[in-house]
Amino acid sequence: MDIKNNILETIGNTPLIRLNSITKALPCPVLAKVEYFNPGNSIKDRMALKMVEVAEKEGKLKPGGTIIECTSGNTGMGLALAAVVKGYKCIFTTTDKQSKEKLNILRAVGAEVIVCPTDVEPDDPRSYYSVARKLAAETPNSFHCNQYDNFANRQAHFETTGPEIWEQTDGKVTHLIVATGTGGTITGTAQYLKKMNPEIQVWAIDPYGSLLAHYFETGEVDMSQVHPYISEGIGEDFVPKNYDMSVVDRFEKVTDKEGAIMARRIALEEGIFAGYSAGTALQGLMQLSTLLNKDSLPVVIFHDHGSRYVGKIYNDTWMKEKGFL
Ligand code: PMP
Repeated sequence: MDIKNNILETIGNTPLIRLNSITKALPCPVLAKVEYFNPGNSIKDRMALKMVEVAEKEGKLKPGGTIIECTSGNTGMGLALAAVVKGYKCIFTTTDKQSKEKLNILRAVGAEVIVCPTDVEPDDPRSYYSVARKLAAETPNSFHCNQYDNFANRQAHFETTGPEIWEQTDGKVTHLIVATGTGGTITGTAQYLKKMNPEIQVWAIDPYGSLLAHYFETGEVDMSQVHPYISEGIGEDFVPKNYDMSVVDRFEKVTDKEGAIMARRIALEEGIFAGYSAGTALQGLMQLSTLLNKDSLPVVIFHDHGSRYVGKIYNDTWMKEKGFL
């Protein structure tokens, strides 16, 4: 018999899928690590489970406890699944720019969701970071995961995402391309891959409106880089502790429009119905494609599933309103 004891045992071991159309003109194959095959439909299931397991081990999360987190949806989904199986409550704070689909999905798996304004500074008391911190202080027997600064985030990718890519490519991977947010995916995966082969090139993809690329290039946190943008789950207005910039070789900026259009092409031309940041990541790779040659084997991460964006990038009216079509 081959039976999983619960849904959490289905996390990870996602497929690596060759792209056959969009990247046809490139000198090398391009492989997508399609993370929507995780049970919560995103890569964040990996780190959510890890954060819970580490908190349990360290005694920070006790039976009957409440998990508190600020999340754009995907981390929340992973945490909610772990909470259902392990018997915890969840309260999430999120921002008013996130798709309604994401919030309803979180409520469907039992989480309480509090929506906060997007366009305030991180230390403003109304920001989703501040509201989560306050809740954590006021709620007895609660644990604030803080995915930005909690090293269990990048550790999950060091232990699972990195080794999977290494094994699936038989150690032949040459480039890792990741649209980046908390930095957990890129840092943990890159730390593992570079440990195996320091020659592997790691490219971070950043939306306009985020300060990460400028920080990488200059070491300065420049708030003049920061403005509202539409891409979801990626870019930051501060530098989370999960980043180890020493494992990143370059940052590439992608516009909201080009990311959205590329996500639609991935669905139409590859039959892979992925989320917005998959489009952003692949667009970044295409912008840098002159750096690839016939011996390259780039792997690009597709973080989540397209169903979360049917009211947005997969909706022609929304695309026209934003001037993307
Ligand atoms: N894409 C999506 C859709 C996400 O939800 C996230 C997580 N914020 C990312 C990309 C970036 O991943 P990470 O936080 O590990 O940098």
